[in-house]
Amino acid sequence: VMGVDTARIRQDFPILRQQVHGQPLVYLDNAATAQKPRAVLDCITRVYAEDYANVHRGVHTLSQRATELFEGAREKVRRHLNARHSHEIIFTRGTTEAINLVAQSYGRPRFKAGDEILITAMEHHSNIVPWQMLCEQTGAVLKVVPIDRTGTLLLDQFEALLSNRTRLLAVAHMSNALGTINPVEKLIEQAHRHGVPVLVDGAQAIPHMAVDVQALDCDFYAFSGHKLYGPAGIGVLYGKEELLNKMPPYQGGGDMIRRVTFEKTEYNTLPYKFEAGTPSIVDAIALGAAIDYVNGIGIEAIAEYERQLLAYATEQALRIPDLTIIGQAADKGAILSFTLHRIHPHDIGTILDHLGIAVRAGHHCAMPVMDFFGVPATARASFGLYNTFEEVDALIAGIHKVIEVFG
Ligand code: PMP
Repeated sequence: VMGVDTARIRQDFPILRQQVHGQPLVYLDNAATAQKPRAVLDCITRVYAEDYANVHRGVHTLSQRATELFEGAREKVRRHLNARHSHEIIFTRGTTEAINLVAQSYGRPRFKAGDEILITAMEHHSNIVPWQMLCEQTGAVLKVVPIDRTGTLLLDQFEALLSNRTRLLAVAHMSNALGTINPVEKLIEQAHRHGVPVLVDGAQAIPHMAVDVQALDCDFYAFSGHKLYGPAGIGVLYGKEELLNKMPPYQGGGDMIRRVTFEKTEYNTLPYKFEAGTPSIVDAIALGAAIDYVNGIGIEAIAEYERQLLAYATEQALRIPDLTIIGQAADKGAILSFTLHRIHPHDIGTILDHLGIAVRAGHHCAMPVMDFFGVPATARASFGLYNTFEEVDALIAGIHKVIEVFG
């Protein structure tokens, strides 16, 4: 396959060069978290060894250097998302914290009893629970756009659910349980026609496709560094300047203030207003290194390569009579969620692990999706830029082994 030289890329990921249970590691749990290239690991070591100090505070040289690197990473994120301003990029702990920030800072002061928050039936728990908590606090009501048996959003139902009571749409760009890529551009356009702002949960989409927040015209976009080959503990909330400016701080503390007296505190400007306390300085800088790494390969090349990998895996999987693919949307990212007739997904996961193959077995933090398909769990193979066609073959052989053991 042209475009992505996996043999070379795999050299960049030291963790992949190991055996598990005496077998070469086949890492297919990228939707949970991705492994880190040497460039990211080296960045972390180098910054701690050479440039580390607290940011935004010191006049001293190290602090200035750390601040420059930290703000440089923010600029890399801005460019990667094509946001208009770097102060529209808020560093958070991850997608979860970004969504909670919007729920509490945007939703809580605004939403009233009877207002509606629209989500979809394929959301991750982190794009469900913060809204349920907000509903409890405000009396707002959660509405859910249903999906069909392929795992595709029902667009006519979406239209029907949009009303003058709708105050926000929160939707996954790509589902972690099904792989479905939602037509977010169209959803956003329709929502905006009703004056409804839109938060896009980009946790799964960001490693697999180019994202342009201005082209999408989304109001908020959230993602996690650790799924984009960057460190865990750092993530991003993009928000439109005019919305972020109207929102109160999410947390109080250092860095988010301009002036504090015991009578009154003046808040800092964007983005610092939302970044109380010492941030994950080095993780943010290393997220910048991860973005550089991905762009060095090219996100379009990665997307095309993974499309072919998924097509191959799907074709092979469909040949296994006992296997059911959960999630067969026409537009899908590199995730293969499946069940085997009368074999529990945890047994699939355990046997595959003994063959050195790492897949996820469980509800994938999307219990309502499992309920909809009438399964307690699925096994999920999820692919990243370093996975190979040979690894797909290993997975398929592994599944045959599982059937042999339990058949
Ligand atoms: N949304 C989706 C679609 C996800 O896949 C995940 C991670 N599994 C999250 C949100 C939450 O991300 P994090 O745990 O990094 O905050």
